[in-house]
Amino acid sequence: MAKRALITGVNGQDGAYLAKFLLDKGYLVTGAVRRTSTSDTHRLVEMGIANSVELRDLEILEFNNILRLVERSQPDEIYNLAAQSFVALSFEEPIYTGAVDALGVTRMLEAVRQTNAPIRFYQASTSEMFGKALELPQSETTPFHPRSPYAVAKLYAHWITVNYRESYGLFTASGILFNHESPLRGKEFVTRKVTLGLAKIKHGELDVLEIGNLDSKRDWGFAGDYVEGMWRMLQQDRADDYVLASGEMHSVRDFVVLAGQCLGMQIEWQGTGAAERGIERKSGRVIVRVNPEFYRPAEVDILCGNAAKAERELGWKRKVSFSDLVAMMAETDERRLREKKAIL
Ligand code: NDP
Ligand code: GDP
Repeated sequence: MAKRALITGVNGQDGAYLAKFLLDKGYLVTGAVRRTSTSDTHRLVEMGIANSVELRDLEILEFNNILRLVERSQPDEIYNLAAQSFVALSFEEPIYTGAVDALGVTRMLEAVRQTNAPIRFYQASTSEMFGKALELPQSETTPFHPRSPYAVAKLYAHWITVNYRESYGLFTASGILFNHESPLRGKEFVTRKVTLGLAKIKHGELDVLEIGNLDSKRDWGFAGDYVEGMWRMLQQDRADDYVLASGEMHSVRDFVVLAGQCLGMQIEWQGTGAAERGIERKSGRVIVRVNPEFYRPAEVDILCGNAAKAERELGWKRKVSFSDLVAMMAETDERRLREKKAIL
C-alpha cells in the first residue's frame, strides 16, 4: 500500500520540492496550507504537481484544526515545514514568530501524541540556531547561540521535538538544515533577491540593487537535495537529529559577483562598509549599493556545516554545487523576465 505523507507549509519552497520528491516515490501526499484570500499554489504549479497533492486547510496556531487534520489524513509521515521563516521579519514580529515557529511545533507534536498512531515526524530545524557560532564548522554537537527571535523560536522547536522523542518514544527527527535555495526561494531572502535584482537590472527594470551586510557568510545548498535528506531521516530504524549542509561557505559579496557573471555582468567593488558600491565594469554604473536598512539588530556572521553524520548514517550528500546553484537561480530569473512570466 502506498505510504501517506502530510506536509505542512506545502506552498513554501521546501514544501514544493518535497511534495514532488515524495510523489515520485509513490506516496499519497496531503499538503497543508493556511487559507488566504489568494490561496497561492504557484510553487506547486511550477513543479507540475498542483493537481497531485491533496490540499487541506491548516492553521498551525489552531490546535483542534491540527488534530482533526492529523486524524483524518492518517499519515505515516509528517513533515512539519510550516513556519514564519524570514529572520528579518522575526525582529518585527517576535511574538507571532514564537507562536508559529515554537509553540506551533508543540501543537503538532501533541496532535501526533494524542492520535496514538505510529507517525514519523520531521521538524524543520535550522543552522540559525548556531547563530554566534562557537565552532566552525558546526555539527550536531556544536552548542547553540541563537541571534534572532526566529532562531530562538526554532531552538525551542528543536528541543521540544527531542523531548517528545525522549518522553513518549515518538519517532521525531530534527533536521538542522543550513541555508538551501532554489529558483522557488522567496524573493526576500538574499540569494533570490540578488538573482532577481540583477536580472531586472540586465533587463532595464531596476537601476540599483540595495543590499545589507555583504560580509555575511553562509553555507548555501540546493533545496532539491535537502528534501531528500528530510525523507532519509524518516526512513531510519531510530529517530535522531542531523545536520544537512554543503560544508562550503561563501559571502553575500561572492554570491553577488557570481550571479553577475552568470548574467554577463562583471561587478567590481569600491568603498567599504555602508559606503561600498558594486560597479559594473563595462558601463561604469553603480548597480549594487549598501542600504543599512537591511542590516539586522543582531547578525549571524558565519555559518558553515559539517554533514558527516548525515553522510555516514543516511548516505546523504548534496549534489548541486554552489556555482551551479547560483547559475540555476540567475538563469531562471533572467528567463522569467525575458518570457514576461509573472514574478512570484
Ligand atoms: P517558506 O517560507 O518558503 O515556507 C513556509 C511555509 O509555511 C509557507 O507555505 C507558509 O504559508 C507556511 N506557514 C507560515 N505560517 C503558517 C501558519 N501559521 N500556519 C500554517 N502554515 C504556515 O520556507 P521554506 O520552504 O524555505 O522552509 C521550510 C521550513 O524549513 C521552514 O520551517 C523554515 O524555517 C525551515 N528552514 C528553511 C531553511 C532554508 O534555507 N530554506 C533552512 C533551515 C530551516 P504561506 O505559503 O501561506 O506563506
Ligand atoms: P538567513 O540566513 O535565514 O537569515 O537568510 P537570508 O537570505 O535572509 O540572509 C542571509 C544573510 O544575508 C544574512 O546574514 C543577511 O544579513 C545577509 N543579507 C545581506 N543583505 C541582505 C538583504 O538585502 N536581504 C536579506 N534577506 N539578507 C541580506
